[in-house]
Amino acid sequence: MNLYDFSRPALGELLGGWGYSRYHAGLLWEALYRQGDVHALRPELYGRLQAETTMSLPTAVADLSSSDGQTRKFLLRLADGQTIETVLMHFEGRDGTPRATACISTQAGCAMGCVFCATGQMGFTRHLAPGEIVAQVLFANSQLPPNSEPLRNIVLMGMGEPLHNYDHTMTAVDILMDHKGLAIAPKHITLSTVGVVPGIVRLADEARPFRLAVSLHGATDAERQALVPLARRWPLAELMAACRYYVQKRQRRIFFEWTLIEGKNDTPEQAHTLGQLLAGLEAHVNLIPLNPTVGYDGRPTGETAVKTFQSILAGYGLPSTIRQRRGIDIAAGCGQLRAASSTAVIATAPRSSSRHG
Ligand code: SAH
Ligand code: SF4
Repeated sequence: MNLYDFSRPALGELLGGWGYSRYHAGLLWEALYRQGDVHALRPELYGRLQAETTMSLPTAVADLSSSDGQTRKFLLRLADGQTIETVLMHFEGRDGTPRATACISTQAGCAMGCVFCATGQMGFTRHLAPGEIVAQVLFANSQLPPNSEPLRNIVLMGMGEPLHNYDHTMTAVDILMDHKGLAIAPKHITLSTVGVVPGIVRLADEARPFRLAVSLHGATDAERQALVPLARRWPLAELMAACRYYVQKRQRRIFFEWTLIEGKNDTPEQAHTLGQLLAGLEAHVNLIPLNPTVGYDGRPTGETAVKTFQSILAGYGLPSTIRQRRGIDIAAGCGQLRAASSTAVIATAPRSSSRHG
């Protein structure tokens, strides 16, 4: 049992079953998430935890910094030897204060097979446990410069499809948002999905408070299916119905992601089709010029064509943002993450994988 897999209520239940009150569960929670000390626990409880549980955190096996120093990518090794990537990005906030965002993974690999994505190209290895998702945030926090504010922005946009690992991802997000723990505000968490329709409906029905991004890339079934194999399972009509349901039920907008690939999905005509598809929906479009990956030879859309695309969308009342390219020199950009050790890596001193004792 890894204690990082437990939400606070579940931890309370575990300890309750052992005969300990909520007070003790609270102390343990603080030891996990608020620099509390496990030695403050009753010795017999501490002993039982040591015997029956772990507080297992991943070990960093590589740490790369982009040439501008603003993006860092970590290769983390999990307890079973599996590796995943986590990215830490530094931005300047509107008021000039530094802000860090962590891009975290929910699976090792991905089963969805989007042709232009390095994670998709490597295939699916396994789901991550809640504690393995949470641990990436703890790790990223530990890497911030001294005296900086704790991490407050999280994007579930690393390796994997979060709605394909729904339950573990939701437990992890509950842990991240817990007001007695890391207390990350829901508005600072964005989950990105390739369009797993039942998952989107469930997010709406369960009133999940974080932000939702849907990766579209094509506004006709044929064009979308050529890039996103999963689109064969849930055609655009079903996906858009789920999105409208979400917007109506949650009373909030959806972010739509569109990876711009030269000659594939970046013509003015395609911008009009997208505009018509989304017109009338509370939506914001994130345009992401393609980042290079080994397994796909497409090219990113040039700056002028991106601007044209954007202005056509504006004509349909659709706001859009061009996503800043980040960490391309260390393959830490959108869709470039894979558990590859083939890239030159700078090994850092391994951290302890256990914080007991
Ligand atoms: N599986 C989820 C979240 C991870 S991918 C999803 O697909 O939404 C995060 C974003 O990066 C997605 O919008 C994805 O389409 C985009 N992306 C993938 N490969 C890319 C590439 N090579 N260049 C630019 N964006 C890419
Ligand atoms: Fe998976 Fe997202 Fe990559 Fe598609 S873009 S293969 S869904 S991680």
